[in-house]
Amino acid sequence: MTWDLGEWTDDTAMAIPILDELAAGNDVRTPESQGRIVRRWVEWHEGAKDVGIQTRAVLSRVKGQAAQRYGDIYKTPDAELAKISRDAAALVHHSRGHSGGNGSLMRTSPIAIGYLNDTQALVEAARAVSELTHLEEDAGDGCVIWCLAIRHAVVTGQLDVRIGLTALDPERRALWAGRIDHAETVRPSEIENNGWVVAALQASVSAIKRGQGLQDTLEEAVRAGYDTDTVAAITGQLSGAQWGASAVPAEWARALHGWPGVTGKYLVDKAEKLVP
Ligand SMILES: [Mg+2]
Repeated sequence: MTWDLGEWTDDTAMAIPILDELAAGNDVRTPESQGRIVRRWVEWHEGAKDVGIQTRAVLSRVKGQAAQRYGDIYKTPDAELAKISRDAAALVHHSRGHSGGNGSLMRTSPIAIGYLNDTQALVEAARAVSELTHLEEDAGDGCVIWCLAIRHAVVTGQLDVRIGLTALDPERRALWAGRIDHAETVRPSEIENNGWVVAALQASVSAIKRGQGLQDTLEEAVRAGYDTDTVAAITGQLSGAQWGASAVPAEWARALHGWPGVTGKYLVDKAEKLVP
């Protein structure tokens, strides 16, 4: 598998349909909006260079179920497509006994920007969009924690990875507090199995704790190894919110491009539509 210099991977690709929905003024908590996101994910995954195991299992099943019931994904009503995706996520979760891959956390950041003024809606949207492919509670929790931290960084300019813990159930809050505490004491590469949503979030917390500025933080994240593109994408969501777009080296910004045939400028233009 070869990638061009500056070509984004599945992390950013999967975030784009969410970003586009929000930039069009739609509420991604609605099944209609979620169905439109799922349709574009199915389109994307058929030609994608790199799709996570769990995401591929869910999206392949969505395509099959939509074909069986309605002919294809285009004839399937939006809300129905969202339901088919949720059901596929549940089936994958129950057949494997887990569904805690990092694939929903890696794509969650547009939700933080889309609901800057309504944290309750943000929490609901982050969890609902996560559950389109990842039923595991850890995956939804991770998206809530990260989106609230991104929102906090954008609104206040302050970094606080724990700001979202209060939005979790009390027993989950303590569990995640311990996970974050641990992450800050080790290097990203010392956290094993970063394909797991919890480890991916921990590796990102570690990179952010150690990094000096955006570029150094992202280099720390990439050096985590294994699922490096995803750890770097998750890290970049929050570190980018902390340091701002001006901290992105110009040569990185110029080279940035990928599915669906757009560049970094497209992402910036859409993101600016979300900011009140
Ligand atoms: Mg990856």
